[in-house]
Amino acid sequence: MSKRSLPLLPDEPDNLLPPTVVKGSLRADGTRENVIPADVRGRFTRARTLAFVFLIGLWAALPWMKIGGNPALFLDFDQRRFFLFGATFNAQDTWLVFFLLTGVGFGLIYLTALFGRVWCGWACPQTVFLDVYRRVERLFQGSREVRMRREARELDLDRAWRKVATHATFVLLSIGIAHVILSYFVSMPGLLKMVNHAPSEHPEAFAWAASVSAMLYFNFAFFREQLCLAICPYGRLQSALIDQDSIVIGYDPKRGEPRGKAKDAGAGACVDCNRCVVVCPTGIDIRNGLQIDCVSCTACIDACDDIMDKLHRPRGLIRYSSTRALGGDETRWLRPRVGIYSVLLVAGVIAATLAARKHVDFEANLLRLPGPPYVFDGDTIRDSFEVHIVNKASATRTYDVTAESDSPAAVFVIPARTVDLGELEGKRIPIFVSVPRSAYVGDFHVRVHVAPRDGKDPEQVTQSQFLGARGP
Ligand code: SF4
Ligand code: SF4
Repeated sequence: MSKRSLPLLPDEPDNLLPPTVVKGSLRADGTRENVIPADVRGRFTRARTLAFVFLIGLWAALPWMKIGGNPALFLDFDQRRFFLFGATFNAQDTWLVFFLLTGVGFGLIYLTALFGRVWCGWACPQTVFLDVYRRVERLFQGSREVRMRREARELDLDRAWRKVATHATFVLLSIGIAHVILSYFVSMPGLLKMVNHAPSEHPEAFAWAASVSAMLYFNFAFFREQLCLAICPYGRLQSALIDQDSIVIGYDPKRGEPRGKAKDAGAGACVDCNRCVVVCPTGIDIRNGLQIDCVSCTACIDACDDIMDKLHRPRGLIRYSSTRALGGDETRWLRPRVGIYSVLLVAGVIAATLAARKHVDFEANLLRLPGPPYVFDGDTIRDSFEVHIVNKASATRTYDVTAESDSPAAVFVIPARTVDLGELEGKRIPIFVSVPRSAYVGDFHVRVHVAPRDGKDPEQVTQSQFLGARGP
């Protein structure tokens, strides 16, 4: 079908391409089909828009927000400290990331088993920001049919300025998004300071922001749905995560088939208007059944509901339902997969809670000083240690250091028994332990107690081994 054969009247329906032409975003020969989805209105589109506004607002506000005096989200890799919703972590807390990542991953798997790709359609950053870019495109280039007619013409001034304005706005948007992302790593005050200085004063951050801006521009201006279809690992896993009872977006063939005109006797509810196909951002026909290319954007539901309203027929020919229910059976909510996932989820929540409870606002570790394990000093044997204390609280704290051992003859020398540490500050306090050679009967444990004076955290006990020998 040549571009010139497209309809020319502005009030013509959107079904400019016959159903046989649109079969996803890749042609049979592997080349890309440039999918231009038609505009759609409806209850799901409105709800998704509200969800996107909330998510973008939250994402943009987080670097500005403070909880308990700390940034709500600030990943300060430079200083190896991380602020997460009021809590402070340092490099020693990296093991907690395991619980965070596995928790997010498993939550997504659980959600998918129950509700299909609801994440993709409602909350994935790719979906959320692509919607913004599509609105910009719509603003400058018009609706699908207007745009396709214009694209079919030779390049003229009207087409050129619209393209330039669209892509200039895309570039500005990409730069803006990259800078908000950057603020998560350098803090918002840090970002504002950088913006007011020449790039040569912070070349790494500038290079990082420029690269991310370029990637965002390429992704949202050109690559688009291909990221979901060809790159996203979560998208590739769908066939393993979804079963017959997962709630997905599907077409009801029992009600819709056989397709036919509205006035045809014996025809099903589907009037084969192709509207559900032309609104699809991945260019698929949901009437062919659940496909891995479906990102659950709900556009086909709103499009078909609109047609049903016009025909005075009940909505829901395309709807959220399970494949089993669309086939005429009852959806089974309780099934082995959901049971196993529920048990694993509860176990994961308990493990994460226990791990989080272990997190305290300071670290204390007893380390042996480099060098020989012990030295003879006259009639005594001496071991040298240091206790490394790190204050992870967002305020200055005072710590008391005491020590004891299994040997009653051990004598401790601690040059600083009280330590003041500022926010995320660390100090090493030397500790010397001596025993008379005559009292030494073997190696023994040395324990150092570190207690915050404000009593907000329990004291920590860190231990090591006294090593020695009676000698000549
Ligand atoms: S929008 Fe509804 S009626 Fe039109 S082709 Fe799709 S399923 Fe059939
Ligand atoms: S089939 Fe429907 S829900 Fe799936 S991507 Fe296309 S328009 Fe969105």
